Amino acid sequence: MEKKKVVIIGSGPAGYTAAIYAARARLDPVMFEGFMSGPAGGQLMTTTDVENYPGFPEGVTGPELMDQFKKQAVRFGTTCFTEDVQSVDLSKRPFAVKGTSNSFLAESIIISTGAMAKRLDIQGTRDGEFWQKGVSACAVCDGAIPIFRNKDLYVVGGGDAACEEAIFLTKYASKVYLVHRRDELRASKIVAEQAINHPGVEILWDSVVDLVEGESIVTSVTIRNVKTNATEKKPAGGLFFAVGHIPNTAFLDKQLKLNEVGYITVVPGTMQTSIPGVFAAGDVQDHVYRQAVTAAGTGCMASLEAERFLTAQGIS
Ligand code: NAP
Repeated sequence: MEKKKVVIIGSGPAGYTAAIYAARARLDPVMFEGFMSGPAGGQLMTTTDVENYPGFPEGVTGPELMDQFKKQAVRFGTTCFTEDVQSVDLSKRPFAVKGTSNSFLAESIIISTGAMAKRLDIQGTRDGEFWQKGVSACAVCDGAIPIFRNKDLYVVGGGDAACEEAIFLTKYASKVYLVHRRDELRASKIVAEQAINHPGVEILWDSVVDLVEGESIVTSVTIRNVKTNATEKKPAGGLFFAVGHIPNTAFLDKQLKLNEVGYITVVPGTMQTSIPGVFAAGDVQDHVYRQAVTAAGTGCMASLEAERFLTAQGIS
């Protein structure tokens, strides 16, 4: 297997930024962008308007932004493979990285495989139905889009994210309904109280969404009370899932230390994982901020740390 100084696993803002820095440092990086595991470019590929990425005052679409990131990474010499990594062997360095077609021995690895926002399988919310036409899994990314203005919006979930996203959406919505399947929120007390006491948020306890309907975009949701089984069709401009994320770490086969919710653990203030020479960046190690700009920042950090690690090993 060909030996490489840096192998980056996963694209998206973290991976491409790591690639830009590694390529400019003449580390000749290769990147596995992903394929079956999700589109190259990550979660932004399914985001329409990105209005909070600095440098784009008029906004930019997620795919356009990722295309620019990739062009910049390739321009400086990154080699991209649009395929998944199937397994890694982190037991000794150089680490073996096995893709579906290509495999390498890596002196250092940057993992930026991200996380996937969970979606519930509700009729009307699937791909080809109203997904991204009023149904979203990221209020911060999509909430400011004009279709959601002054409409009744629905958030599904009862955790910190659901409460925060419901409060965030009150900036745009006529009213926000938080649909939670139980009679008690999972969110931390302070965040839960903020949602409960917010005049723009109403919590629909013991409730689930059964159906989403619309024309070109969402116009209604049908809510069912799980205790009484009563259903009600209500006008709606949008539905947001906030039912948690799944970090994409299965291919690691538990070789790296993960935290209690499955994200890669890094040494605080660094991108260093539990194995020297293996770094993590972006959402795969961040369940709190989850923004494109924070992912890009950690991609830069991971790359600078990989460069320093290689220099310390006498590899440059
Ligand atoms: P979470 O805490 O796992 O909450 C997920 C919510 O979705 C739960 O209320 C759960 O209901 C609900 N849910 C899951 N599957 C469902 C289903 N099939 N149908 C209906 N509801 C379903 O996820 P999160 O809110 O994304 O937070 C993830 C982590 O990030 C947490 O540790 C959280 O504290 C942290 N976080 C922190 C902050 C902050 O500190 N400011 C902000 C955001 C996130 P049940 O409660 O009934 O299980």
